Order: sequence, then structure tokens, then C-alpha cells
Amino acid sequence: MNVRKLLFPDKCPFCGKIIHSHTLGCCEDCREKDIFYENTGSGELSVLPHILNLYCLLHYEGLVKDSLIRYKFQGENWLANPFAALLHQYIAKDNGYHFCAWITSVPVSSSRFKVRGYNQSEIIARKLSALSGIPYADFLARKDTKVHAQTGKMSRTERYQVKKFELLPSHNSIQGGVLLVDDILTTGSTLNECSELLLNAGASFVNAAVLASGRKDLGGVCA
Ligand SMILES: [Zn+2]
Repeated sequence: MNVRKLLFPDKCPFCGKIIHSHTLGCCEDCREKDIFYENTGSGELSVLPHILNLYCLLHYEGLVKDSLIRYKFQGENWLANPFAALLHQYIAKDNGYHFCAWITSVPVSSSRFKVRGYNQSEIIARKLSALSGIPYADFLARKDTKVHAQTGKMSRTERYQVKKFELLPSHNSIQGGVLLVDDILTTGSTLNECSELLLNAGASFVNAAVLASGRKDLGGVCA
């Protein structure tokens, strides 16, 4: 065991118990807990019409919610390793990388990036790229924040219709399938908008991988 491992042992992201390797993802006890989704990968979902297969790893509640808040808002960046390991196992088990030529991520706004200094979806996406051997590319950007400034005066429906993303100019021609990574799935509007842009740019399909969702209507079988 190296010194770094002695000082910073790999821990279960949910209960904090020491595990042999972060490649395991979590401890055996948590693996048995009712925190994982099952079978969100197969088939198109009505809430996500532009996504071919969805890989949603965890139910956004309890221990999972706590650990995701620590990852997203409290700077516990080490959690990216076990989260990526678990998500990778899930995608690989369902052949979700099949025919994917690229992995990309949902971008954060530049103001949020300034506060946190990183995009946690991109970190997970880059780790999935390293684990799967599929190249990572940034295809998308958040639109100018001036557009957002006006949204305060709009109704909820109008706000929902405002397009928040655009393709990076260097990537208006994409070949092959794309795996799109985001952290938490709520309404699905972000994944839908981003996947529509990727498909319009030529992607043959878009699979999506997210760490967690509070939705109960994903996939055929929900734990
Ligand atoms: Zn645990």
C-alpha cells in the first residue's frame, strides 16, 4: 500500500467505511441497500424523448442525497472516484458504451464555474472516459447569461422554453453515438435540450448517464 493510500484511504461514498479500492465504488453493505436504480438503461423514456438509453445510478434521497450534496457543494472532490466507478460498472454491465464514439458532459454556467472552480459532471465524464477508453470532448456550452437575466420576468412555461445550451462552434459535426453525462436528473429538460443539439449536429444516438434522480418513473424496474 502506498503512502497516499495510508493517509487518504478509499472510503465508501455513502457510509464512509474504508474500502479496499475506490474502483469497487462502495462498501458491500451499501451495495445491498435500496439506493440503486435498476434497468433504467433499456429503451426510450417518455420523459426523455431524445435519449436512447438512460443510465441513472442512484435514488436521490437519504445517504445518497447527503453524499451528492457533499460532492456538489462542499468540495469533497474525492467522491468523483467512487461515483464514476459505480456509474461505469452500471453502464458497462448493460453494454451502454456500445457504439459510443464520444463522452461529453452538461456544462455548468460560467458564474457557477467561477464559484466552484470545476464542473462535477465533467469530472465524472472524464473518469468514465478513462475507465472505458472512449474519448472525452466538450461539445456544449451554456448560452450567454444575459438571456438568463430576462427570465425573471417570464412565466414558468416561458422560462421552460428558453434554450439554455448551444453547440460549441468547433463541434457542429459529430459522428457516432454520444454518452452525455449529468449529475442529477430532475425534469429532464436539460438532458433533452442537450441531446437534441447533439443529434442535430449528427450524433447517431445519445445515451445519458446521471448519478441520481428523485424521479420514480425511470426505467421498467425501480428498486
Ligand atoms: Zn457504505
